[in-house]
This record gives sequence, C-alpha cells and structure tokens, in this order.
Amino acid sequence: MRTTPDAERTAAHASPPGGGLTPEDVALARADTPGCAKVTHFNNAGAALMPRQVVEAVTDHLYLEAENGGYEAAALAADGIEAVYDSAARLIGCDRDEIALVDNATRAWDMAFYGIPFRPGDRVLTSMAEYGSNFIAYLQVAERHGVRVEVVPNDEHGQISLDALRATVDERVRVISVTHVPTNGGLVNPAAEIGAVARRAGALYLLDACQSVGQLDVDVREIGCDLLSTTGRKYLRAPRGTGLLYVRREILDRLVPPVLDLHAATWTARDRYEMRPDARRFETWEANYAALLGLGAAMDHALGWGLGRIERRVTALAAVLRAALDEIPGVRIRDLGLRRCGITTFTVDGFPAEAVKASLAAQGINVSVSRTASTRLDMDDRGLEEVVRASVHYYNTEEEADRLARTVRALR
Ligand SMILES: *Cc1c(COP(=O)(O)O)cnc(C)c1O
Repeated sequence: MRTTPDAERTAAHASPPGGGLTPEDVALARADTPGCAKVTHFNNAGAALMPRQVVEAVTDHLYLEAENGGYEAAALAADGIEAVYDSAARLIGCDRDEIALVDNATRAWDMAFYGIPFRPGDRVLTSMAEYGSNFIAYLQVAERHGVRVEVVPNDEHGQISLDALRATVDERVRVISVTHVPTNGGLVNPAAEIGAVARRAGALYLLDACQSVGQLDVDVREIGCDLLSTTGRKYLRAPRGTGLLYVRREILDRLVPPVLDLHAATWTARDRYEMRPDARRFETWEANYAALLGLGAAMDHALGWGLGRIERRVTALAAVLRAALDEIPGVRIRDLGLRRCGITTFTVDGFPAEAVKASLAAQGINVSVSRTASTRLDMDDRGLEEVVRASVHYYNTEEEADRLARTVRALR
C-alpha cells in the first residue's frame, strides 16, 4: 500500500539499521531468490535476479499454453492478464487505462517520443545523463522534422541544472525529455522539480525511468510527468522482454501512435479505423503472456515489500558499498548528484574496467561495465571511456558489499 508522507516519515524514523528491511526480511528475500545461492549479484541495473514467485508465474503460464494452446491459455488467464494493468497502475500511482504493456523500455519510450507530432522549430530539451538510444532518436527526429535538440547543462552537483532549465524554457519547447537515473551512475535527477517547470511551460514531459522504477518509490502524479517508460528486467526483477509505458490520460489525444495494428485500433469500415480509447493504442496485438504475467508477479512482489522500504534499503546499502570502495587507494567513485541511488560506478587506476569485472567474476561476483556510447554526453564531458558498475538490490547483503570491496582491493 502507498502510505501518506507522514506515515512515510514515521516509517523512515523507525526504519531498521538495514535501511528499510530487517535482517530477517533480507533473509526471506534471499530465500525467495534462487540466484542468491549461486552468485553475488551486483548487476541489478542490467537485469536483477527474479524471485521464485516470478519464475513460477512464467512457467505456470508456459505449461498452460503447452497443455491447452496459446489462445486458450490466454482466455483461461484473462483475469490475471488484466490484473497486470492494475499492478502497474498501483506501482507508479496512475489509472489502469493509462498503462501500455510492451516488450521493453526502449519500445515504450519510442512509442511516446515518436508519437509527438513535431513541427519545424520545435525544441526538445534533454539532460547530460541522457541514454544513448534516446539521443539517437533525437538526432533522427531533428533530421526528419527540423527540430532543435538542446542539452540543459548540469549544476555543480552533476544533476540537471534547474536554474538553466527554468531560464531556457519558452513556448517553442515541445517536450522536456530526461532520464531519471542514468545507466552509468548513482545520480537521481530532480524529476518532480522538472515536472513543475514543464507544467508551467506547457511542454510535454517524458521521463525515462528505466533505472528508477523498482528501486525508488516513483509516483507519476508526484513527479508530474506526462509520459514515463520503464523496463521489467532491471530493478523490478521481472523477466527479460517486458516493459511499460505510462501515458497521462489528458495528453493521450495529443500523441499520434507511430504504428497501429488491429489491437491498437479497430478497422470499422473499408476506409476507416478507430483507435482504442486508452493507452493500449501503443501496444501490439501479439504479446508474450508468460513474460507479461511474470512482470505482474514482479510488480506485486515489489508492492508487497513496499517501494518506500525498498528505496531506503537499496540507498543505504549502496552508500555502504560506495564508502567501502572509496577507502581503497586508486579507486575513484564516479557517481554524480545530490541524491544517489542503488547504482555505484567506479574506476580503478591502472586496471581496465573489463579486468576488474573479470576478477570479480572469478570470485562469483557479477558487475557490469558501462561505456561511452551508452551515455556519451556525460562520459565525454568527464573524459571517461568506461566505468565499472556495481548496482545493489534489497536482497544483497552488507557482507556481499564487503566481499566486493575486498576483491577490488586485492587487485592492487
Ligand atoms: C536500460 C536502459 C534503457 C533501455 O531499456 P530496455 O528495456 O533495454 O529497452 C533505457 N534507459 C535507461 C536509462 C536504461 O538504463
């Protein structure tokens, strides 16, 4: 259940030393996560470990399909499939008709961005932390429609400068399109403050929340975004090949879906069609229902823990890891921002990121490497070509964080 701000504050005050979860909670989370017995997983920003409940939801439906036929299985599971929309709506604080379920975050984001009817001279404002796929889309749309793409600089903390944003908005800004949490670091951009600027300017606000949903308590009404995209496999712990798009009801008809099929629209006469009245006009007819039900189970699982508790746990554990790494000579923490989340990135003097990753892998510890092309504006700006990314989840432990830090220390 979503709690009131006052209840949240009380809960925060009473929160256990684990930062939102007790040691018993963490033990329970690990017991429900088969991967915890095999690996030390700090690649949650790549794809988190699925809990048993998610794996079961997927495999149960695959067996239902195998034994009944795919269409018949979908009919048998119809209520469960519809309930995934309710779970998504509860998770991000919107209504079920504002949700489209799609294959991944990029498709969700694309359907929103390419659905904006751009005119020559429109301005697109974005941030330094922008994700590579999004920026490629900006370049394409700039070419195609004569749109101007402008990057709002960072402030002294490394988050988007709200002063610079406020100073530059005008009536030609068609969309403010930014990344909440970048793929390459612990930065959390001030999403709600950006929302206030967008609302005053009358600009659309598209938020790439791919790395924040599932680790932070993301509420679209609090943030004030019109559009939000996220993925299943990262902090939500859902199967790969799942994602969702939120479209605020009031702006639905201001967008033109870049593609339509007979699920998104109805062929009503030889020369006519009607679009669906809800956000599902951004979906396609065919879907991987097993994966979709897995996404539903993953969202229910996260809601069961409570996103506020998950956020406190993940943030606290990442701070422990960051501090342990920061003490090691030659290690440089590369996270920016005033507020930091579960992603920690670092470099080790004299050791390529791949070598650090390989040494950790040899100890059964999973991390990933983030390179220039994923976030070119930011990486070029800081003269970085690669960073090691260690992303914690609530089921990771202080002992695991310590082991990661000790393995990095032993490199030198
Ligand atoms: C991973 C990521 C994406 C892309 O998500 P997919 O599900 O792979 O399409 C988009 N934005 C950010 C910030 C990401 O980290």
